[in-house]
Amino acid sequence: MIHLNMDAGETTITSLIEKHITRLRACRRCRLMQGPVVSGGPVVSKIILVGQAPGDKEPVLGRPFAWTAGKTLFGWFQQAAGLPEEMFRQLIYMAAVCRCFPGKKTTGGDRVPSDDEIANCASWLRDEFAILKPELVIPVGKLAIAQFLPQPRLDRCVGRSFRTVLADQRFDTIPLPHPSGASPWHRIEPGRTLLAEALGLISRHPSFQSLTNT
Ligand code: SF4
Repeated sequence: MIHLNMDAGETTITSLIEKHITRLRACRRCRLMQGPVVSGGPVVSKIILVGQAPGDKEPVLGRPFAWTAGKTLFGWFQQAAGLPEEMFRQLIYMAAVCRCFPGKKTTGGDRVPSDDEIANCASWLRDEFAILKPELVIPVGKLAIAQFLPQPRLDRCVGRSFRTVLADQRFDTIPLPHPSGASPWHRIEPGRTLLAEALGLISRHPSFQSLTNT
């Protein structure tokens, strides 16, 4: 874990986040998690996207949202804001509730991370918030939304913006549903309309606007 000294004037945000990623990649705290750690890399950004946990393809391909859910997610931003996937990856910091693949359930599908694993990984997220001081946070899926809002029901939070605090940072949180093909929520009403409203809120957010104007 990085122990931050934010008074260290000569230490840049870039070097802090680079050191953070190096330490994160070496993390082996969770016995049942299947490495390697998946990271989007040291992107200096005022926007943080928080996913749930990688699937089995992401550790192999070496980046978050690298497979079918990612295609859907990046398609949303391309359509709503004209932001292509590679630009998204270069401009927005991609975090997650857990950074390692949890493995499969015996009944099929990916195992949901345990409370202990979520707690283990939360310190990485807190350090990222302390370093980057985000203005906009986009949690994707109920597990990610639950780290920021007490009520993660999709129909009560998607399409809305919340003022939220983590690691002494205050920021806007605009939740998105998980783009997994396993859930039809975002393809049927009211999910379809609420998703469009959420993407509109993100596209008009000042941090997102300044990002796409540079
Ligand atoms: S899930 Fe997080 S805390 Fe657990 S081993 Fe992976 S990076 Fe470390």
